[in-house]
Amino acid sequence: MPTPKIYPRSEHSVSRSQISDSALKVLNRLDRAGYKAFLVGGAVRDILLEREPKDFDIATDAHPEQIRELFRNSRLIGRRFRLAHVRFGREVIEVATFRAGHEGNEDGASIADTGRILRDNVYGDIDEDVWRRDFTVNALYYNISDYSIADYVGGVEDIKHRRLRLIGDPAVRYREDPVRMLRAIRFATKLDLQIDDATRAAFDSYGMLLSEIAPARLFDESLKLFHSGNGLGTFEALREFGLFEYLYPLPNQSFIEDEVAYNLVVAALRNTDRRLAQSQSVNPAFIFAAILWGAMVKRRERLIDEGMHESEAFRLAADEVVSEQVKNVAIPRRFTTIAREIWFFQARLAKRTRKHAENLLEHIRFRAAYDFLLLRAQAGEPLVELGDWWTKFQDVDGAGREAMVAELRSPSRNRRRPRSRRKKANDS
Ligand code: ATP
Ligand code: MG
Repeated sequence: MPTPKIYPRSEHSVSRSQISDSALKVLNRLDRAGYKAFLVGGAVRDILLEREPKDFDIATDAHPEQIRELFRNSRLIGRRFRLAHVRFGREVIEVATFRAGHEGNEDGASIADTGRILRDNVYGDIDEDVWRRDFTVNALYYNISDYSIADYVGGVEDIKHRRLRLIGDPAVRYREDPVRMLRAIRFATKLDLQIDDATRAAFDSYGMLLSEIAPARLFDESLKLFHSGNGLGTFEALREFGLFEYLYPLPNQSFIEDEVAYNLVVAALRNTDRRLAQSQSVNPAFIFAAILWGAMVKRRERLIDEGMHESEAFRLAADEVVSEQVKNVAIPRRFTTIAREIWFFQARLAKRTRKHAENLLEHIRFRAAYDFLLLRAQAGEPLVELGDWWTKFQDVDGAGREAMVAELRSPSRNRRRPRSRRKKANDS
C-alpha cells in the first residue's frame, strides 16, 4: 500500500479563499454526507503555482449515482470517463469517482491491443486513483475534511522545482493515452514548467500514436493548445518536439517548404495571444484559416499549373485541404466555413473600386478577412501597401475615399512609390 506524504494546512498555501464557493459547496456536502471529498487536478496545481485556477475538479469515493442523488443540479456525462457535472449558474464543477487500475479484466474497463484505454469505469479508492492521473503536479489531493494535501507522487516537490513529470513509465502511460504528450506540452508552456527528461524523450517513440486518436478529441485538444493564452509558445513547442506533424501533416509540410506559411501562423497566434490577454473575443476559425493557408495556396497553385481556372482551383484546393485535415483533427464545419470565407475574401480585397470596396466594408466577414490580410503582410507576402490602403480606407470620409480610389488610377502613383521602395516596406 503506497503511503502519501501528507502536508498539513500549515505547510502549504492552498486556502479556502482561493476555491470557488460552488466548489466548496460540493466538497462540503460530500463530506457531510460521509464521503471522502478532495479538490484535485489543475486547481490545486494552479493555486500552489500562485495562479488563478481555471476550473475546479473534485474527486470522491461517492459513485456517480450517489453524486447524482446528492445534487439536484447535477447530471452524469461521459462514456470513456463517467462523471458528474454539478452546475451553479454558469459554473460547472466536475465530480469524478476514484478510479482503480485495470489489471486483469474487471468489468467496466477496456484496453485495446495497443495498450490504449478505451473505457475506464472501475471505481477504487484515492490510493488507486492517483496512479491513473497523468502528471505528478496534477495528482495532488486537497482534503476538505482537514485541509491537508495528500501527495503520493512527489508533486509538491515537482511544483517547487517547476518540473513536469509523468507518473509511471512513459512507454506505458503514452500508449494508454497518447494525448498525454499534448497535455505535457500545453502544461509546460502555459505554466512555465520544465518537462522532465524521460517524460519528453518518449515523445520520439510514441508521438506517432497521436495519429490514431479520435479526430474529435484532437480538435478539442487543439482548441486548448492554441487558445491557452500562450498559443505561440505551445505551437513552437509542438513543432520543436515533433508532435505537430501528427495533428497537422499537410500544414507541417507547407511550413517546411514555405517560410511565409509558417510566419503566418506565428503572426496569427501572436495576435490571438494578445487578444486573449486583453479579454477580447477570438474566433477559432481564424487560427485554422492561418494554419491551413499555406497548404491551400500550394494546392491551388498546383491545380492552376495543371490548367484549372483560378477561381475553381481556389475552391477545389480549399475543399481538398480541409477534407484531408479533418481526418486528423475534426475541425467542425462551422469553423471551416468561416475559414474558407476568409480565404476567398483575400482575392476580393485586391479589387479597389469605390463601390466594390465600400460593399466589402459592410460584409460580416470583412473584419476577419482584413485582419488576415494584415497578418499575411506581416508574414512576408508583398501586401503591406494593400493592407495600409484598407486601414486608411476605413478611416476616411466619402471624399477621402474618392481621393484614395482616384490616386490608385493616377499615373503619378508609381513615381511616388517606386517598386524598390515598396518592396523594402514589405520586408519590414
Ligand atoms: P486545466 O487547467 O486545463 O483544467 P487540469 O489539470 O485540471 O488542467 P483537466 O483536463 O481538467 O486538466 O483534468 C483534470 C485532472 O484529471 C488532471 O489534472 C489529471 O489529474 C486528470 N486527467 C485529465 N486528463 C487525463 C489524461 N488524459 N490522463 C490521465 N489523467 C488525466
Ligand atoms: Mg481542470
